[in-house]
This record gives sequence, structure tokens and C-alpha cells, in this order.
Amino acid sequence: MAMVITLAIICFLFGATIGSFLGVCSYRIPMGKYEPTREGIKQLEKPVSIASPARSFCPQCEKQLKSWHTIPLFSWLFLRGRCAYCRAPIPFRYFVIEVLTGCAAVLCLLRFGPTPTALGVFLFTCVLITITYIDLDYMIIPDVITYPATFVGLAIGLANYFFSSPINPLLNAPFVYSPFESLFGLCMGPGMLLIVWWLYFKVRKREGLGLGDVKLLAVVGAAFGPECAWFTIFCGSIIGSIVGVAIILIRRNSVSNTYIPFGPYLAFGAAAYLFELHEVVLYLVGEGNSLSWWIGGLL
Ligand SMILES: [Zn+2]
Repeated sequence: MAMVITLAIICFLFGATIGSFLGVCSYRIPMGKYEPTREGIKQLEKPVSIASPARSFCPQCEKQLKSWHTIPLFSWLFLRGRCAYCRAPIPFRYFVIEVLTGCAAVLCLLRFGPTPTALGVFLFTCVLITITYIDLDYMIIPDVITYPATFVGLAIGLANYFFSSPINPLLNAPFVYSPFESLFGLCMGPGMLLIVWWLYFKVRKREGLGLGDVKLLAVVGAAFGPECAWFTIFCGSIIGSIVGVAIILIRRNSVSNTYIPFGPYLAFGAAAYLFELHEVVLYLVGEGNSLSWWIGGLL
């Protein structure tokens, strides 16, 4: 047990470090030259990319951060969420993304054990987290993330089919085991989302979904197959509707001018499928002892 806990802590710190990088990605990828502010989306004077500038900087005073200012989790806590130079607040979201990615790494280890499958699921979870952050801020899901991820999903189907046996695939479930399953998922996910898009359009007389959501479904379908795509839409739609109605009630806005990004709910739906969260729910309501099965990767 002590070894499991040590392994989980190492895994959490590893995940948090990756999360710190995802925070940078979610800030720098979207348009390179814009940033979201309270007043709307503002153009940056000096455009940024993932690689340039190489060191992190404070967007307020533009001073380059020292390496001890960028230690995942600890720096934010130690600096109490403020820039070391100008004391401008560092958004809590950067702390949250590190905790979130750390937790994802631990979940992958618990569910899939120390295997290539765990690493694969973790990488796709990182994609989902980054997309969630970008969609919440900018209301877009960048092609630069979804296209390569879809390609990787198809490649996994091919590799599993041609370079391994069905009993012992390179990457186990939830990944697809053949290119046919991958292609089926790739067509079915976006296909079903188009039906949701059509229903929404019929009811509300305007578009409720962006093409980015469809491309996100393509990623999920290509890598994890049609069942995952179906579950992602089902779970994402239900949670998205509940949260959407709550937001509209709280803000008391008229429905027509409230735009709610759908990407984060789809990402949550996909993650729920990957980690089989419904098993945890069943366990909590006492429908059987499935939790021991759920952490079966390690035990
Ligand atoms: Zn500063």
C-alpha cells in the first residue's frame, strides 16, 4: 500500500508539471496574439507562441519570471496567487489546471496500472483539459489540436490491428483495436452531433454548436470508437443543459444572448467514459462493489 501511495504522489507531481505546461498552451495556442480580459478579447502588443518567448512572463508587467516562480502548485501557493514583481493576480485557473492534470495522471495510473495504455489515456486527457480551457476563454477549439489528435487516434487503430494480436494489443481498451472501429467512431461522433445541431437549430432557430465541437467529437471517435463518441454526446448534452439553464437563471439573461461553450461538457463526457465514472456512481449508490474493479489496474 505504501508503494501505491508513493507511486500516486510521484504521478500527481508529474501530472501537475505537465498541467503547468498545459496552462501555458491554453494561454498561448489560441490566436497567439490575443488574450481574454474582463472587457473582452484584447490584442497583445507582442505576439506569443508556445516556443516564443521561451521563458514565462507576467502579462501585466511583462517581466520574465524566474524559475522558482514557475514551480507547479508551490509557486502559486507561495506567492499567494500574485506576480512576484507587480503583485498582479495570477488567475486561480493556473493552479486548478495543475491540480486537475495531476489528478488525471493519478486516475490513469489507478485505472490502467503502469502501462502504455495509461500513458496514452493521460495524453488524450491532456488534450481534453487544454481544449476545455481554450473553449471557456475564447469560445474556439483550435484545429492545431484536433487535427493531429484525430490522426493519432486513427494511427492507434492501425497499429493495434496490424502490429499486435487482439488478445494483447499495443494499447488496450478504451482505445480502438482496429482502423475500422476508428473510422466508424470518426464518422459516427460528428454525425450524431450534426443531429443535435439540427435539433437545436429547429428549436432555437439559430446555431448552437460550433464546428470545433464536431472536430472534438472526431478526436474522441477516432481514438476511442463509436461507443465512447455516443457516451460523450449523451453525457455532455445532459450536463451542458443543466449547467446552461443554471447559468441563465443565475445571470437572469435573456436566453438569446447567452452563449455557452459546449466543448468543456463534451470533454467531461469523454473523460467520464475513459475513467468509467459511472462505475464510481454505481458504487456510491451501493449497486455493487465495482470500485475495487475500477482501481484494478494497480491491485
Ligand atoms: Zn507582474
